[in-house]
Amino acid sequence: MEKLDRYRACLLAGAIGDQLGNDVEFMSRSQMLQEYGPAGVRTMSGHITDDTQMTLFTAEGMLMGLKHRMPMPACVYQSYLDWYRTQMPRAKGGVFGRDSGLMKVETLHARRAPGNTCLSALGSGDMGTLEEPVNHSKGCGGVMRVAPCGLLKMVNTPDPEDAYAIQGAQAAAITHGHTLGFVPAAMLADMVHLIVEDCGLTLEGVVKSSLARMQKLFGFLPQTAEFIRLMERAVALSASDTPAHEAIAELGQGWVGDEALAIAVYCVLRFRSSMADCLSAAVTHDGDSDSTGAIAGNILGAWLGMDGIPAHWLAQLELRDVIDDMAHFLYEAGN
Ligand SMILES: [Mg+2]
Repeated sequence: MEKLDRYRACLLAGAIGDQLGNDVEFMSRSQMLQEYGPAGVRTMSGHITDDTQMTLFTAEGMLMGLKHRMPMPACVYQSYLDWYRTQMPRAKGGVFGRDSGLMKVETLHARRAPGNTCLSALGSGDMGTLEEPVNHSKGCGGVMRVAPCGLLKMVNTPDPEDAYAIQGAQAAAITHGHTLGFVPAAMLADMVHLIVEDCGLTLEGVVKSSLARMQKLFGFLPQTAEFIRLMERAVALSASDTPAHEAIAELGQGWVGDEALAIAVYCVLRFRSSMADCLSAAVTHDGDSDSTGAIAGNILGAWLGMDGIPAHWLAQLELRDVIDDMAHFLYEAGN
């Protein structure tokens, strides 16, 4: 498979998972089954949410960083300030403002249930870093937006393979200061990187390799062990006979970073050959459906490529061209 194909499907399937979960984010699973039938949510509303908006701004921030020679995470912070301005029109926005193609996209100025943590952290005037956390939030808003950090290398690390995880953690720590807010982001970026680089691993191998990197990079932090245990449970459940909805409920609801990644990874491992089944499972639960859908879509999209995305979902995806263009830009910048 062409590498570009994986880049495109990573962002497009992530956005589809987000859009699929949009209508049902605040519904219980039993309400969903009543409304959508026993197969779960399989039809989409018309709109992506803040997860996809912020993923796009993560990508644009990195590209602007290359263009303006601004390092991570400052470039992504400036881009998030632009996103903040789309939600709070009186805010100042970032330094890229006029140069930003995304700021000109009218649809991106719509409010789609933006996360309070993201809004308050970006409104505080301080950029959170791994060294100086801006708060103690472990919400999933840190992880749901960092797939682009797995697609373009911006930072230099002693082991070059650590770069993607580090920049994923940095992007999340801008607004989420808790270990369980930024380590899942590091892992998502690392997994996306391993998959798009066609590292020759199985999907389980990708998860295991990535968990080993989390232990190496973040094992000194409290709660990293807790994170790794939950991820290992997700892997074990995916190979068990436990019905999917019970397994997902055991992993949590996904409002926090570690649970969101665990649910997404579970769904990807369990339903790896079907994007439709994977994303349906990833949104048909009691928790944060759009974020778990977005993360699962990022991972399985990278794994299956464009052929794995149901055509009718792709046709209904809001901002499809903007998302697809961004995947091309990231690919061209890094390859
Ligand atoms: Mg959302």
